[in-house]
Amino acid sequence: MKVVIIGGGIGGLAAAACLLKQGHHVRVYEQAPELGEIGAAVQMSANAVKVLDHLGLREYMESVAVKPKAFEFRRYDDGEILHTIPLGDSHEAQHGAPYYQVHRVDLHVGLLRVVLSLDKDAVRLGCRAVEISETETGVNIKFEDGSATQAELLIGADGIKSVVRKYVIDTEPPKFTGQVAWRISIPTERIPQELRPDVVSSIWCGPKNHAVMYYMRSGTLLNFVGCVERPWEEESWTTKKPWTELDEDYRGWHPIVRAVIDNVDHDQCYRWALNNREPVLEWSTKRITLLGDAVHPTLPYMAQGAAMAIEDAAVLSRVLALDVELPDALKTYQELRAPRTARVVRESTEMADLYHISNKEEMRRAFKNRNLSESRNGWLYPYDPMNVTLVK
Ligand SMILES: Cc1cc2nc3c(=O)[nH]c(=O)nc-3n(C[C@H](O)[C@H](O)[C@H](O)COP(=O)(O)OP(=O)(O)OC[C@H]3O[C@@H](n4cnc5c(N)ncnc54)[C@H](O)[C@@H]3O)c2cc1C
Repeated sequence: MKVVIIGGGIGGLAAAACLLKQGHHVRVYEQAPELGEIGAAVQMSANAVKVLDHLGLREYMESVAVKPKAFEFRRYDDGEILHTIPLGDSHEAQHGAPYYQVHRVDLHVGLLRVVLSLDKDAVRLGCRAVEISETETGVNIKFEDGSATQAELLIGADGIKSVVRKYVIDTEPPKFTGQVAWRISIPTERIPQELRPDVVSSIWCGPKNHAVMYYMRSGTLLNFVGCVERPWEEESWTTKKPWTELDEDYRGWHPIVRAVIDNVDHDQCYRWALNNREPVLEWSTKRITLLGDAVHPTLPYMAQGAAMAIEDAAVLSRVLALDVELPDALKTYQELRAPRTARVVRESTEMADLYHISNKEEMRRAFKNRNLSESRNGWLYPYDPMNVTLVK
């Protein structure tokens, strides 16, 4: 089948790799003139790593990623550990694949290599899709430069501001969540030895604000994401903001958090608005479907957005191998994916309430009641996109 994918992000490349492996003819059209991811990190839990394993990326991931020992939820000022989710060996033993922290660029490069090894012409750059029309026999896609292409199946993997989504679901823009995210990364050697965090994913929780810190690139870089409730601002991953505002947002926080803020380059502080959408149950026509942030963008508070895009890619490719008509396959795909992705979106939103509680006692109680370790080990991480039952 001739498949066109709009968007060469993590979801689009994962889909291309899975579909090429099945023998489909795949072309990925990416608007950026050069391929590259934004310099930030992502966490990949077993549910997504099983797909990376399927694509032959285990050895590569082992060489570029960090394996944290645990998620540690800590109080923002005194550092009290409120809850722990074991990762490391425990995660791998329980769920059959490791938990990784990886630079987005490294993950993107790994996926791209797989795609190009299967078809060196699969990715077209500088092609911004602007118009789509569907007939009984195919889909026509027009690009900004006036060129066009046709597909038997079109997959919109074009992120939160998806153009493809407009032809499938609605033209509503995503909504601002009232929260923004600071993003900084700092060479580990800049942080005084005694204030370097352990090899964990630490989440520092405070009033209307939380900060996530973890290592990437074999521990040589530390990633910091600070999520603060703030008025609306521009949604862009590349907008720099004054260090003084970052300093202000984290005044009075624990010395381990302060050590990162105090030692970062003052002109390297990025901040962007976090947007979201209400989950939907249907996102396909007869020949067009969506995946990843194009259909179910989520707050990053469970570290699952990219993982969901990768799961989508794997399940979609498996469903397309069934002996059914294309519209039925697309229906099956969305039926399989909608409940799970909606739960991730919903629970990620709820995490803001938990992580941002002002009162310490109340926060302690809330973490105890919620028992994130039991919950995530119970339903989130055990999911296996390569083996989940496709037809009941
Ligand atoms: C602060 C933060 C931390 C996060 N941490 C994690 C984490 O730890 N773990 C995790 O799993 N997820 C995490 N996520 C979520 C994750 O980054 C996203 O869910 C993921 O990148 C979505 O991938 P995607 O391929 O669907 O979309 P995108 O990565 O947005 O890719 C879309 C691509 O489509 C291209 N495009 C857009 N429009 C067009 C067009 N018209 N024509 C052609 N190309 C087009 C874009 O240029 C882009 O390359 C985090 C997100 C944030 C904001």
